[in-house]
Amino acid sequence: MELRVDRERCLSAGMCALTAPEVFDQDAEDGRVLLLDAAPGPRERREAAREAAELCPSGAVTVAENR
Ligand code: SF4
Repeated sequence: MELRVDRERCLSAGMCALTAPEVFDQDAEDGRVLLLDAAPGPRERREAAREAAELCPSGAVTVAENR
């Protein structure tokens, strides 16, 4: 799994950091997403990252699955 975030699209809603706090954080100044772990290893962390991508209201989180 490879994660990408588009900080230009991010609306600072914070759903990602709430849903997967080990993977996403929010910038202390502008509230936009910060990617902490672009390639999560543990299964729970990957599932949380997928859920966060679905919940993001702006579609700023992209998930690419490695096959
Ligand atoms: S959920 Fe989406 S819009 Fe909200 S902070 Fe995360 S990336 Fe930005």
